[in-house]
Amino acid sequence: MKAGIVGLPNVGKSTLFNCLSNAKAQSANFPFCTIEPNIGVVNVPDARIEKLEELVKPERVQMATVDIVDIAGLVKGASKGEGLGNQFLGNIRECNAIIHVLRCFDNDNIVHVDGNVNPIRDKETIDIELQLKDLENVEKRLEKVNRAAKTGNKEAQTEKALLDRIRETLLQAKSARIVVPQNNDEEVLMEGFQLITAKPVLYVCNVDENSAVNGNKYVDQVRELVKDEDAEVIILSVGAEADITELESYEERQVFLEDMGLTEPGASVLIRAAYKLLKQQTYFTAGVKEVRAWTINIGATAPQAAGVIHTDFEKGFIRAEVIAYEDFVHYGSEAKCKEAGKFKVEGKEYIVKDGDVMHFRFNV
Ligand code: GDP
Repeated sequence: MKAGIVGLPNVGKSTLFNCLSNAKAQSANFPFCTIEPNIGVVNVPDARIEKLEELVKPERVQMATVDIVDIAGLVKGASKGEGLGNQFLGNIRECNAIIHVLRCFDNDNIVHVDGNVNPIRDKETIDIELQLKDLENVEKRLEKVNRAAKTGNKEAQTEKALLDRIRETLLQAKSARIVVPQNNDEEVLMEGFQLITAKPVLYVCNVDENSAVNGNKYVDQVRELVKDEDAEVIILSVGAEADITELESYEERQVFLEDMGLTEPGASVLIRAAYKLLKQQTYFTAGVKEVRAWTINIGATAPQAAGVIHTDFEKGFIRAEVIAYEDFVHYGSEAKCKEAGKFKVEGKEYIVKDGDVMHFRFNV
């Protein structure tokens, strides 16, 4: 599962990417500097794993991760192949969710590709390019499906009806994600279309250092603009956070954050939001060798969760032993949870809950 960072050139994408991952993407004060997609594997900050570490004292700890892709600068006309348009759009199609960065800071030294700071216009510029690309794909598909639909093919007719609705939406300069599938067939079709504007999205308002807590007038405009989208808006001072990551010690970083009025980096908030946007959740294994957070889809069953560790665990699944995270922390150990009757044995149908501490029994 991957989340792609998009936005106009010079809004702070690669600086953000650098904050999130340790990989150093190039960043300079001119447009088009991020030309190759960069993928970073980013730890998902989770206070629960620190708590488990304290209790279990394992040899090592492994956090959950999420893949973040820094996508090359999208410019006006990208859907028609301007700049690196098509390459960019291919990269974004492979992502499962979108982090849309909007420039919400004034700084005359940093060139804006369209002359002045205006996140509303910027968002529209990006949205339109993505919508045009989707429209092209929808129309291509419609051409194929139309013929079959005319001959009375039921499946083709279902697909055509959905494509027509999506086309109408895109023609109104709206994103495909507002088209709600009416049934399971439509849901599966929608998934298969892999439309860019159907992917879940969150917005990052890149603000000046002094607006990291309460935002500014640009953030207010963005909030107003997306209020019907059911999308999260995260305020982040990318420049300031990039400076923080340069500091050596945890204490120094904490002081800097407190000066800004924050208790943790906005980047941490963003990573957790991206994880949620990707519909991911975590279960833990807590052994003396390793305490580890594993990533599963929300709604995964116990065998599917086991399969994330090893496919053999899923194939040979017998049962799962489960302790709720809160119980584990409250009683302090597996043995104490057992005594208290908080150690549950679950079968194939069990739907894993976020934070479950699990152990699997399986045949090989
Ligand atoms: P990208 O083209 O969207 O990837 O933008 P970059 O991350 O390369 O940033 C473009 C320029 O803006 C660089 O000089 C950054 O240092 C600067 N920049 C990024 N974020 C901020 C910010 O929050 N505040 C200020 N003042 N400058 C920033």
